[in-house]
Amino acid sequence: MASTPRPLVAGNWKMNGLSASQGELDAIIAGATGIAARTDLMICPPTTLLARFAASAKGTPVLVGAQDCHAEASGAFTGDIAAEMIADCGAQAVIVGHSERRTCHQETDEAVRAKAMAAARAGLTAILCIGETKQERDAGATLSRLERQLGGSLPDRLDPKGLVVAYEPVWAIGTGITPGPADVEEVHAFIRQFLTKRDTAGADIRILYGGSVKPSNARELLSVPNVNGALVGGASLKATDFLGIAAAYA
Ligand code: PEP
Repeated sequence: MASTPRPLVAGNWKMNGLSASQGELDAIIAGATGIAARTDLMICPPTTLLARFAASAKGTPVLVGAQDCHAEASGAFTGDIAAEMIADCGAQAVIVGHSERRTCHQETDEAVRAKAMAAARAGLTAILCIGETKQERDAGATLSRLERQLGGSLPDRLDPKGLVVAYEPVWAIGTGITPGPADVEEVHAFIRQFLTKRDTAGADIRILYGGSVKPSNARELLSVPNVNGALVGGASLKATDFLGIAAAYA
């Protein structure tokens, strides 16, 4: 029987943050000490801040991740960054398949899978995002949609150190609306079952919930069975809110 995976609270800054945002990272690092005894903490800044943040966080309990990577290690791909470049910056992780990438950049499950494999190749942890739209939820197609996304985008090997799955209902991202705990429980149990059917290591893969998590709802959402942490967008931009969410595991 697998033990409960150690929680991870990861902040996705999206296209927000300038050099002046260093103070927020410094405040997160300063506030992390007690929390990090129980919870892994990670900030995923925009690429422009990646090397700087990785250098600042080195030797602290705060991990740093990127928000996307290309599947190839190098080549003629203007504007893209390789997983190897992210690792070379000193970062430890990369988000792949975020719904904003799937929607704005038409990323398919196959493309997301190639990115997850690239992360593994470079020694990074992939935070692989899946989630249904409002239309799919209303049509009762949530679990079938997630099953297709998992089947199409999981990498070959389920390595609990190298892979995190983030369930992010698209309709909950940035809207202030969240599913109820019973809905989250149903979906996370489904994902856990899918992962363990694929590989016994699936029992140890962390499954994060993401979508409008804030300090006021974190305890309720993060105490749901099979929720092993959160992927946080808007509320991760302020150190006090981000730490307030992570403190749900206090
Ligand atoms: C996200 O985009 O990953 C996210 C969870 O955003 P928010 O917390 O702002 O809903």
